[in-house]
Amino acid sequence: MPLVISKPLLEHARANHYAVGAFNATNLETVQAIIEAAEAEAAPVIIQISEGAMRYGGLRYLAAIVRAGAADATVPVVLHLDHGSGFEVNMRCLQAGFTSLMYDGSAKPFEENVATTALIVRAAHACGIPVEAELGQVFRVGDAVTAADIQQALTDPDKAAEFVRLTGCDSLAVAVGSVHGMRSQEAQLDQERIRQCALKAGVPLVLHGSSGVPDDAIRAAIENGICKVNVSTAIGAAFCSRLRGQCAESTQEHDIRKLLGPAREEAKERVRQKLRLFGSSGKAGAALDACRTMCSS
Ligand SMILES: [Zn+2]
Repeated sequence: MPLVISKPLLEHARANHYAVGAFNATNLETVQAIIEAAEAEAAPVIIQISEGAMRYGGLRYLAAIVRAGAADATVPVVLHLDHGSGFEVNMRCLQAGFTSLMYDGSAKPFEENVATTALIVRAAHACGIPVEAELGQVFRVGDAVTAADIQQALTDPDKAAEFVRLTGCDSLAVAVGSVHGMRSQEAQLDQERIRQCALKAGVPLVLHGSSGVPDDAIRAAIENGICKVNVSTAIGAAFCSRLRGQCAESTQEHDIRKLLGPAREEAKERVRQKLRLFGSSGKAGAALDACRTMCSS
């Protein structure tokens, strides 16, 4: 089926206490792994492309691969921009047929983040495309920050409410204790902050940096208002670990498919585990009905 927009999926997830998995893709194999996993779990799914992935795989190549995969799928698939750094990249993705955008102005002063987000929201909404924004900062492993810096950058629920009111964004990425790029599940989430942000902001919330969060904390966060969970590191780790194994086992292999195929399978299994953890398995049909209702009204 054609790509679907993210808003009705996230609203359906919010109303039914689960989260839609949003997985980063960088090449053909990762797109296939994500869509095959979503099909196997009958789950709605978001495939997201970062600017780094665009530099590697090409914006139009990756968009075309996702669109082709979605066309053959029976589950709803969204093509989303992850961490768009400005107005221009958002407009390029809008033109390329993305069905969900993101502007991350979280490192900017509040007023500047509001102004750029509002501008992108206005342009995207004119084309019927929803926008995720970010308030509070989710740091990355390797950033020179202290525990106090992380605490200081957590999203303030009242500011979140003001931000959503001023920008009209459709969903909000919040800083609630996770860190991008963590390989071990040790991050502590501020569950009460998630609850307050959900209550006050009134839009679906997005959790970034989920690979470093324990499963129980993810489940609680979804119960408290997280409706989209981003996963990048865990998928890359599964793919690369199997690829390393294949290369070590078959040092003379020169058939690319024999090395990448098993890595794709490993990534697919990891995506399936995540979809089950997020409670989205089996939700594809109802989520698609929600899309059709919203898109025809
Ligand atoms: Zn992120």
